[in-house]
Amino acid sequence: MTTSPESTTPASASATVGDPAFAASLAEIVRLSRDVGDPANDLVILAEGNTSVRTSGGRMLVKASGANLATAVDDDFVEVELEALMHLVRDGSGDDADVATGLAAATTWGTKRPSVESLLHAVCQSIPAVTTVIHTHPTPVNALLCSRQAEALVAGSLFPDQIVVLGRHQLLVPYVDPGLPLAHHVLTEIERFTAENGTHPRVVYLRNHGMFALGTRSDEAVQITAMAVKSARVLLGALSAGGPVHLDQANADRIDTRPDELLRRRLLAEAADGSTPADH
Ligand SMILES: [Zn+2]
Repeated sequence: MTTSPESTTPASASATVGDPAFAASLAEIVRLSRDVGDPANDLVILAEGNTSVRTSGGRMLVKASGANLATAVDDDFVEVELEALMHLVRDGSGDDADVATGLAAATTWGTKRPSVESLLHAVCQSIPAVTTVIHTHPTPVNALLCSRQAEALVAGSLFPDQIVVLGRHQLLVPYVDPGLPLAHHVLTEIERFTAENGTHPRVVYLRNHGMFALGTRSDEAVQITAMAVKSARVLLGALSAGGPVHLDQANADRIDTRPDELLRRRLLAEAADGSTPADH
């Protein structure tokens, strides 16, 4: 039996909305999405980009298909079960109809349809430490991702704050058909990256497409997005000024592990929660 995408039951909404933690997550993703979608930030236009926030019971709230981040309201999000989507992703063999059926069946709250990019959010949200994922198409980042210099984004560390916020290494994946093939490919690449570096990537760059920021808190995902945009701008400038000069490996590794930089990471996290200054 197949379930049509329209069969999502609004009836489940009332049960979940009564849960204060769910209501807080919904309010948070609406706030976050409007912030990300603000045209002044130049991260997305029109219906570009999407956001997700982990909820309890192995689920996430994710932007629905076709919704606009800048004007997002509660009804522009759906809640889906991560494991149901990961089952599709790990298998990787489903066609468009299987994906539509699977997305509808995995939906636990909401009246709209999850987009196919929900699968990639599920991959990122399946990393235990990750709670918030922001997918955007920032102009400076895409300028590089759509150029011959895309590899330069992950070729080395340029400045200390980049390492503090984005980590020592980031992941760049080639252009792959969005939806199930892309999610399956990114899952494999994240597993490889994590085995190689002992930690998950905080940024996944998609060639000729955009970026994913993986945050342990929503404000961290915002900080990661902002620092990736800044890094892209610095790199574009360095490329036009004769080519980038990277921090050498010993210094870059030292910044990643020295106590005062670890403290600075903590201060950034506290600043996101309150008003602790986090300047360098
Ligand atoms: Zn996209």
